Amino acid sequence: MTGLHRNLIAGEWLGSDGAPNLNPSNTNDVVGIYARASQKEARDAIHAARAAYPGWSRSGILERHTLLRKTADEILARKDELGRLLSREEGKTLAEGIGETVRASQIFDFFAGECLRLPGEIVPSVRSNIGIEITREPVGVVGIITPWNFPMAIPAWKIAPALAYGNTVVFKPAELVPGCAHAIAEILQRAGLPKGVLNLVMGKGSDVGQAMLDSPDVNAITFTGSTGIGQRVAASCVEHKRKYQLEMGGKNPFVVLDDADLTTAVEAAVSSAFFSTGQRCTASSRIIVAEGIHDRFVTAVVERLNGLVIDDALKPGTNIGPVVDESQLRQDVEYIELGKLEGAKLAFGGNKLQRETPGFYLEPALFTEATNEMRISREEIFGPVATVIRVKNYEEALAVANDTPFGLSAGIATASLKYATHFKRNAEAGMVMVNLPTAGVDFHVPFGGRKSSSQGSREQGTYAAEFFTTVKTSYTSS
Ligand code: NAD
Repeated sequence: MTGLHRNLIAGEWLGSDGAPNLNPSNTNDVVGIYARASQKEARDAIHAARAAYPGWSRSGILERHTLLRKTADEILARKDELGRLLSREEGKTLAEGIGETVRASQIFDFFAGECLRLPGEIVPSVRSNIGIEITREPVGVVGIITPWNFPMAIPAWKIAPALAYGNTVVFKPAELVPGCAHAIAEILQRAGLPKGVLNLVMGKGSDVGQAMLDSPDVNAITFTGSTGIGQRVAASCVEHKRKYQLEMGGKNPFVVLDDADLTTAVEAAVSSAFFSTGQRCTASSRIIVAEGIHDRFVTAVVERLNGLVIDDALKPGTNIGPVVDESQLRQDVEYIELGKLEGAKLAFGGNKLQRETPGFYLEPALFTEATNEMRISREEIFGPVATVIRVKNYEEALAVANDTPFGLSAGIATASLKYATHFKRNAEAGMVMVNLPTAGVDFHVPFGGRKSSSQGSREQGTYAAEFFTTVKTSYTSS
């Protein structure tokens, strides 16, 4: 097939069966035709990673460093073009697409540095004349399964540490965003990737992903996606006795107290609930507002939402791009209808929009008078939909914030050191933000959550070593 973007298996670009990758801002625009791997091709990729493992796990740190640094350099040099590709296939605005591409480069750069700082310890034994070395070794073949909402950054924050610590990789991106995944694999190959060290298998979760779960040759799986699929990943890993790391859904609370700076609170709430079309695991979907500031806050949020431009992701001036695809749009609209039926008040938006080109455009939807018991407050919608829940005071706000099956990110807007400190200590979440949006994190520090949001050790920063290595304790008698 001409123009087919193929899978990378054992250093060869392979595949004949392809599917079109559509632009959600304009479904007449085909971003490209991308291969869909079969289960057999997925198994070939796993074998290639297994065959490459002995060589790569013993490779020198300078070789790994150079591979990752060159990858970081090329991504950065091509940030505008790659950011455009990202926005064209995923639908976040061009500024967001370029920002995410820069982030991917920073992550490769960070782990290029980590290659030169591999940790280890030498400690005395409790017995005389014995020395102990504590070292970290790679885990083996790592399966990387990623979602569509951060098609550059999430693959980067899994691939870079996997390779830095000497693992080989089978990488399966989400079906909706093969373009960024293909670009990353091409760049790695140009940067000197040895044959089989990273294999790209694009395709369906039920084929390619399932083949990875079923294979006894995959030693660890790092997964980001929905809670439902995450549970299947976990079950397969228990069966095959392998390591796993799951980053899943969120229903992140953002608390606004009476003493909050109104502008700060409104900006943080609007940006983390609605930017990137609300399609972020760290989005604030429950905005918990104290009664003294409630009405002023809602009025200001509605005014801010009125000024936002929802349009083609690539158009200058667009603040919010389209929803990623038709089925996600349907899900968002169903939840908006459900919210009305449940008795919440739709204070703003929620309508599908027509633009110049056929795309999946949706006005941001803000519900007020919601309770924390409603399904729109409990289930992850994963779109530009947020509920405002009115509370009496800080104590009630904290209780509502923690009353959720999820625990990824939690935010608070307040001028009070006492409440900010108490919230940092008592919010049941992996990440806490004070006077900041719940979405938006640094790349050099741990990322992850609690409860149904995450399982396994943290991603990113030096904490990534925990998942991508295994510890060995060696005793030597002299
Ligand atoms: P998803 O669970 O539908 O898919 C995630 C990945 O799993 C995709 O690559 C998919 O093809 C694959 N998959 C599907 N079925 C599979 C199977 N049977 N075996 C193996 N793999 C399979 O999620 P999505 O719709 O792509 O992404 C949205 C979800 O991701 C949301 O729930 C969001 O909260 C979550 N997310 C979480 C984080 C985080 O860090 N916590 C970050 C981003 C997104």
